[in-house]
Amino acid sequence: GKVGVALVGLGNLSTNQLAPALQKTKVMELRGIVTGTPAKADKWQQQYGIAKEHTYNYDNYDEIANDDAIDVIYVVLPNGMHPEYTIRAAKAGKHVLCEKPMANSSEECRQMIAACKDANRKLAIGYRCQFDPFHRRCIELAREQTFGKLKFIEAGFGFKIGDPNQWRLKSALAGGGALMDVGIYALQACRYLTGEEPLEITAQETKTDPVKFAEVDETITWSMKFPSGVSTSCMTTYGFNGINQFTGLCDNGWFGLDPAFSYAPPQPKSSNPSQAKLDLDPVDQFAAEMDAFARCVLHDEPSSVPGEEGLRDLVAIEAIYESIRTGKAVSLA
Ligand code: NAD
Repeated sequence: GKVGVALVGLGNLSTNQLAPALQKTKVMELRGIVTGTPAKADKWQQQYGIAKEHTYNYDNYDEIANDDAIDVIYVVLPNGMHPEYTIRAAKAGKHVLCEKPMANSSEECRQMIAACKDANRKLAIGYRCQFDPFHRRCIELAREQTFGKLKFIEAGFGFKIGDPNQWRLKSALAGGGALMDVGIYALQACRYLTGEEPLEITAQETKTDPVKFAEVDETITWSMKFPSGVSTSCMTTYGFNGINQFTGLCDNGWFGLDPAFSYAPPQPKSSNPSQAKLDLDPVDQFAAEMDAFARCVLHDEPSSVPGEEGLRDLVAIEAIYESIRTGKAVSLA
């Protein structure tokens, strides 16, 4: 059989990416929804053939415990709501796929991991790029030292944010600004290319609009040192468009993706394309991510992007914010 999923929070990501991807998944199947908006419930029931008995709202959410058609709950709410809806899902006996960033703090990540462990349920984070063949090939290039030893990574992701009233600009719901939302992709790239955790982090913030960004960060640049000697230069912003890439610079050449982190297929770049072998067939990253988790559930195997992976990002993110606050390098050794 297939693994049934219920999406919690029918906003942009669920509507425009996850539901269409769930038409392509082979192992995971869209069976349920949790929404506070009755009109959305009607629309989704019709469009995706979701039964009334698998439709929930935020008041009767916990009753999903009695719904055997739902194996997995996919938490697609604002970041600050991830812990509560993950922990309640685990208590309802469901496996959890939770969107990035996992939570607003490392402490909450630990609580989520503990809740899923106590309930003997799996927890994975929506790190779609880790299921993308272009990103996987770049990891191979770094690890197999195709261009020699990896020396330096340059990575950045940002965009110019619109509506000043959206939850992404409120600290309680977003946990932070550009860094939490999209800077995390650059951080992830540095972590999966090296396969290591940062030893030391230094960061600076620039704020050009203190009204719009009263609660959250606008632009951050940070650098990291990794145990193997790799150093990195990273940036993230909500202030302008145009940065969406990483480059891995090695002893004898370089490779990367630009754009790297969009929904559209990544575009490879390299000092030697025939050596890099990055002319790959694109996949739907969301379908790949969801099917991978469905297989973990079906075969009782560990996820490659577990709660612990989300926690490691939050530990680094907290070090970035600490460095901004203190003006000093933060050691994670
Ligand atoms: P969105 O604002 O479009 O949707 C959020 C949904 O949560 C809406 O349906 C909204 O009605 C609901 N909601 C419930 N309570 C709310 C409250 N108190 N305040 C605001 N909304 C509330 O956001 P989105 O872009 O779909 O992002 C949802 C999550 O997915 C976030 O954690 C985000 O970081 C993540 N995301 C991941 C990717 C990716 O590529 N993996 C892309 C976009 C977003």
